This record gives sequence, C-alpha cells and structure tokens, in this order.
Amino acid sequence: MEWKKEAEEAVARVPFFVRKRVKKRVEEEAARSGAREVTLQHVRTCQERFLNRMEEEVKGYQVETCFGPSGCPNRAVITDGLPGTIETAVSRRNLRSFLKERVKGPLKIHHEFRVSVSDCPNACSRPQIVDIGLIGASVPEITEEACSECGACVEACKEKAVSIQDVRPCIDESKCLFCGQCARVCPTGTLKEGKRGYRILVGGKLGRHPRLAREWPGIHSSDEMLQIVERCLDLYQERSLHGERFGEILERSGKDPWEVPGRE
Ligand code: SF4
Ligand code: SF4
Ligand code: SF4
Repeated sequence: MEWKKEAEEAVARVPFFVRKRVKKRVEEEAARSGAREVTLQHVRTCQERFLNRMEEEVKGYQVETCFGPSGCPNRAVITDGLPGTIETAVSRRNLRSFLKERVKGPLKIHHEFRVSVSDCPNACSRPQIVDIGLIGASVPEITEEACSECGACVEACKEKAVSIQDVRPCIDESKCLFCGQCARVCPTGTLKEGKRGYRILVGGKLGRHPRLAREWPGIHSSDEMLQIVERCLDLYQERSLHGERFGEILERSGKDPWEVPGRE
C-alpha cells in the first residue's frame, strides 16, 4: 500500500521495537476504511489505539527478521522458513501467560522475549540487543584448486581477513565474520563455501541498563541452533523471577548459558 510522506514520517518517529507492529496496524486500518493510501490520520488513530490497549498487544514474544527474505544480495544463509519455525518453538511456551504470572502490574511490550534473525553479519535486525539473536554464517573453505591471484577475494573482504601468500589464499580466522563474500566471488573455486549455519547471540537488551548480547561459541547448524534456542528458553523460564530480560537473568547467575549444563 502507498504511504503519504507525512504518514511515513510519523511512523518513523515510533520507537523501533514497536514500529513494525504499528505499521502493520496502520495499513490494516487504512484498508478497513477503504483507503488506497495511508494518511497521517490513519497513523494517529492507530497510535492512540495502540497506546490505550498496550497490554492486549503484548503476546509475550517477538520474532523479527532483517530484510534478507525480500531479496537482499548480502545473505550468507537463506532463512525463509526459519522465522516461522522459531515462532512455533517460542509460541509453544505460552510466554504471555508466563509473564502475566510474574510481572507486577500491566504487561508492556518491553517484557516480551525477543528473537531476531539477520541473514548476514551486517546484522540489520539488531540481534545484539535482543534475548536471542541469530546471524547467518557462511564459512569459507580453501580447496586444492589453483589460485589465479586475481585478488577478487581480497577486494571482497571488508574485514581485511584475506591475503594471498605464495599463490594461495590465506584467511585470518580471528577477523573473519563468515559473510561468505570471498567464496562467492572466487572464479576458480580455490575458495568455496564450507559450513553454513548460524552464530548465536544471547542476552542482549536496551532500557535502563543496556547490555550487548554475548556470542555462543561456534557456528551452528539449523538443528543445533534450534536446540540452543530451546535450552535458552528453558533457562529463561526456570530462572525468571519477575519477567526480567534474559540478559539480566544471565548476569545474576554469573554464567553464560553454554557454561550451564543442559537437561539430559
Ligand atoms: S542483515 Fe544482511 S542479509 Fe539481512 S538485510 Fe541486512 S545486509 Fe541484507
Ligand atoms: S567470509 Fe571471507 S569475505 Fe567474509 S569476512 Fe570471512 S574472509 Fe572476509
Ligand atoms: S578470488 Fe580465488 S582465484 Fe582470485 S585470488 Fe582469491 S582465491 Fe585466488
């Protein structure tokens, strides 16, 4: 649906963590009234309704994605079905009822458990500041194929992690973010994609005491990643006292979740 400029500007001022939701509601409101274009009035009506009925809007969790599925060329992994799979896993936890039992006073959007998926290390969906952040990873692998020293891989790597030494590519693993670009541009197959999976960030949050998420070591396959998501949700639900964010729970325990033994 088309948007009037002033309507777009008004929505751009809505806090980012509810912007997507407000935008969807505004478009529904405009469609309901038979409009072909979203106006400022549609935005105002929805904002008012959203603020008055904030508690009803809280479903207990949010799963967000970057714009990768819209065709972003930078994607290190194709995660089209993944948000739905994660949403199914998280929704099974009945987090709204869970939070209702623990939070004193009305539920607010910031109480929700948030998962954010980014398809490459550019991390446009801000996985560093949510409870669980997933970042697509494509690990480059050096093969036996001869290198033509074209330099395309060196040029493609924004991290300056690739160099050519003795007519062979060399990757500095301490710098590599697993974006997969070097393997993508290699014309000879000397560099190719090796493992493909996810980096997992846990316990990020904003608010009064912001905390950047910590990275679960390793690159994980889809199955491993889903097991880790379940393990984090177990920990969150076992240890939450008053609906605090996962990062706060981890800080209180003094341990990272990969240091806590999982269930057998
Ligand atoms: S995180 Fe990467 S794949 Fe996703 S929108 Fe940003 S640049 Fe594109
Ligand atoms: S995957 Fe390749 S291009 Fe991307 S950061 Fe690693 S070495 Fe650089
Ligand atoms: S892109 Fe491939 S062929 Fe070109 S320098 Fe790099 S490894 Fe060698």
